[in-house]
Amino acid sequence: MVNQMKVDVVLELMDGRSLEAVLARPFIPEENEIRIMLAKGGNVHTYLLSKVCCVLMVPNAQQMMFYGKEHYSEEVITTTDKHFHVAILKDLKARNGFYGLYKDIRSPFKLIFFTNNGIKLRKQGSLVGEILQDKGLVTHHSINEALEEQRKLRERRLGDIISEEHDLHPKIIENIIETAYKEGKVTPRMKIGDILINAGLVTGEQVANALASQDFGKRKKIGTLLIDKGLITEEQLLMVLALKFRLRFVDIEKEIPKKEALDAIPAYVVYGLRVFPLDDDGKHLVVATSEPTDHTLPESLRFYTKRWIEMVVSSPRQISRAILKYYPQKEYGVDDILHGMSVDELVVEPDAEISDIDTSVSESDSNIVMLVNKILLDGYSKGASDIHFEPALKAQPFQVRYRIDGTCRLAHQFPAGYKRAIISRLKIMSNLDISEHGRPQSGKILVWQQNKQIEYRVEVSPTVGGNEDAVLRILTSAEPLPLEDMGFSANNMAAFRRFLTQAYGIILCVGPTGSGKTTTLHAALKFLNTPEVKIWTVEDPVEITQWGLRQVQVHLKIGLTFQEALSSFLRSDPDVIMVGEMRDTETARIAIEASLTGHLVLSTLHTNSAPETVVRLIEMGMDPFNFADSLLGVLAQRLARRLCEKCKEPYHPDKEEYDELATIYDQKWFLEHNVNLYSDDLTLMKKVGCHACNNSGYKGRATIHELLVNTESIKQLIRHRAALDEIRTMAMKEGMRTLLMDGIQKVFQGITDREELLRVCRYEKSQ
Ligand SMILES: [Zn+2]
Repeated sequence: MVNQMKVDVVLELMDGRSLEAVLARPFIPEENEIRIMLAKGGNVHTYLLSKVCCVLMVPNAQQMMFYGKEHYSEEVITTTDKHFHVAILKDLKARNGFYGLYKDIRSPFKLIFFTNNGIKLRKQGSLVGEILQDKGLVTHHSINEALEEQRKLRERRLGDIISEEHDLHPKIIENIIETAYKEGKVTPRMKIGDILINAGLVTGEQVANALASQDFGKRKKIGTLLIDKGLITEEQLLMVLALKFRLRFVDIEKEIPKKEALDAIPAYVVYGLRVFPLDDDGKHLVVATSEPTDHTLPESLRFYTKRWIEMVVSSPRQISRAILKYYPQKEYGVDDILHGMSVDELVVEPDAEISDIDTSVSESDSNIVMLVNKILLDGYSKGASDIHFEPALKAQPFQVRYRIDGTCRLAHQFPAGYKRAIISRLKIMSNLDISEHGRPQSGKILVWQQNKQIEYRVEVSPTVGGNEDAVLRILTSAEPLPLEDMGFSANNMAAFRRFLTQAYGIILCVGPTGSGKTTTLHAALKFLNTPEVKIWTVEDPVEITQWGLRQVQVHLKIGLTFQEALSSFLRSDPDVIMVGEMRDTETARIAIEASLTGHLVLSTLHTNSAPETVVRLIEMGMDPFNFADSLLGVLAQRLARRLCEKCKEPYHPDKEEYDELATIYDQKWFLEHNVNLYSDDLTLMKKVGCHACNNSGYKGRATIHELLVNTESIKQLIRHRAALDEIRTMAMKEGMRTLLMDGIQKVFQGITDREELLRVCRYEKSQ
């Protein structure tokens, strides 16, 4: 019977598998799942579209109607590196993906549905040259003019070449690589290192050496390492990347950007995304980037421009130069939107009929709507965790600040006349009472951006002068990070993994708000998350979602507390339980009990150090014997801003500075742990500041850890209610590195600097 089954669908899964099957019910993308009967074995399965790259189908009669309505040809590359040449069916729409007509005439599966998540790259057909040739919009005279200018530019370029002759010119390299590519020696799956070796640019040994020296750059790409070592230039790397992703490499200095292209992308987007538009034929937009690996760029640009985007690659230097030349203004941002809006138009009366916004959108209202939307997305795209709307007294400007990497910075200023309108708009978006001005209110806003849901938790508070402040916390539906990305030292990593392989016990992650505890616990859960293990979590709020986890959101209004959820879990056959926070004694007591009855429990606490956590829990009334038996370990952590990879610079510290680091570490242990000897070639990294890091010198964050392992001797101390000092001394004797020690190690590794370390570890220092 199985053999007679006529396969009408092929599922390409994210994990690389291809499944031949028959649709078990009609496929509707909006259902976010597909139900199929497998050709092999005949089992019926439902697959979430989030696990699917694309669905190849034999089209039904209804879908056939869309034949001939195809649009542009595209090459679509899935995240599993499968290439499909398709004609996009623009009239057959879905929010979570798109349809294409398969160009492969041998395939019976003519219709392909691609999920947005499953796509690495979409590339349109035409090249700039072709577009220039057949756009037919310019006169013969202006073409000649353009050609003349291009000729001059080429001549100047020749001068450059001669002056740099001792060097290998990029073009030669490009040719070598291109030949290799034509001869079939380069595949999209190939590693950059291999392409470079095959092209004869570097030797296998050099690549191996570069890989071996990944001591403080585990996440650095091989290409970046080779640049650091001076073996290739950034331009050469970009050429190879361009080749890998089948994009064109463009020498911007030889191109004359078209005015329509420059107009198509607003300046603040150009500055924000570091891209440069080159050509536009009304439908296609050709845009240069120096980050061809950033797959979100085409989607963002499509969002802003509503055009088909062809990405091309160029060097960051050329892109910066072109941006400065063609968008010669210093600072761009949300302010651009204010262009053409007068303050008078924007004064919205407190009780104005803003709720009619959907039926009668006036010019000023739609500007406010757009302005607020842009701020929300701008904050998100800049990596802010919170957006603060702060109206001031009387005519003083209304300011918007973003909290990025833990610190607030001014993002925008508006005339005071905007404040009511902006706050009212935020209230409408978060379903709050716009006529209420005297009491705090909380709500939320959901925004879809690039197929990703962004949630903003809104808190409106009345402030002096009859104002209202609004603070929006941004919750993205973030993916959990792997444990390997948590920045653990080798010892801590090994110990932490050991905790996770225990059948029962409690693991605590501690630190102040915003120290990344939730991220760490979710990385741990990701490690534990297998089909054999039942995992319950209760969180407030759920910030990270993971497939396979059963996640419960605390809901105080209906009495769903941490404690309530935890008690319910114990009746729901769990293996692993994660309690977002042990907020009260009762929750802590139940969590410890759960860990003693055969469950692995993970939780967090607002304590400053690992030893302090142990003392605090006993003080809270936990039974010392139970607690000593249940505890596996405590991980204290802090987030320190990471030195910006783009601009940080090496320097040689003087002996005085070195000694100071040793003192912060603790002189006695510094020698014993054999941290770093002083020498003439000792280098540290210092912050500089560039565009990428908003001139702060820091970008992204690094985690600093202090891991206490509950050994036999620590257990003894807990049972006897030992003092904080005793526990700390014993833990250090048995190998615990304090936050400051771990931090100093990371200063020596060039990950962060002393100033930042002391800022985030100030609690620890004052003890
Ligand atoms: Zn920087």
